[in-house]
Amino acid sequence: MADDARYIEDQCQARGMRMTEQRRVIARVLSDSADHPDVEELYRRAAAIDSKISLSTVYRTVKLFEDAGILARHDFGDGRSRYEQVPDEHHDHLIDVKTGKVIEFRDEEIERLQEAIARKYGFRLVDHKLELYGVPLTDEDR
Ligand SMILES: [Zn+2]
Repeated sequence: MADDARYIEDQCQARGMRMTEQRRVIARVLSDSADHPDVEELYRRAAAIDSKISLSTVYRTVKLFEDAGILARHDFGDGRSRYEQVPDEHHDHLIDVKTGKVIEFRDEEIERLQEAIARKYGFRLVDHKLELYGVPLTDEDR
C-alpha cells in the first residue's frame, strides 16, 4: 500500500523521530513497496540505493518504525515477518501458499460478522487480523 513516496518519512517526522540518511532510504523503499516485503528483501532494495546500508540497520529501522505504529508486521505462515505501511483503510490478506503472492481485500460482510461475533461475547471489536491461505483454482475445482 504505497500511497505516497514520502508517507513513512512524514510519519517519522510527525513523531519527532531523528531521520538519518539511511533511515530515509529505508523509509522510501518501504513507501515504494506495493507488496509485503520481508527484511531481507527490504535490505536488497535499500542496498541497491545505498550500498553502505547493512542488514542489521534495516532490522533496527524496521523495528523502530513498527514500534512507532508506522509499519504493520505480518506473518503469512512461512515464518518470515513481512511489512507494509499501516494502511489508512483496513484490509485483509489472501495468501497463495504456492507462490507466496499476497492479495489484499476488504469484505464488508466479513467486517460486520466479526463485529457481531465480538458483540455476542460481550466485546466491542477494536482490531482484527484475517489471513486466508489458498492455492489457485484448477479446472477441476471449477
Ligand atoms: Zn496488506
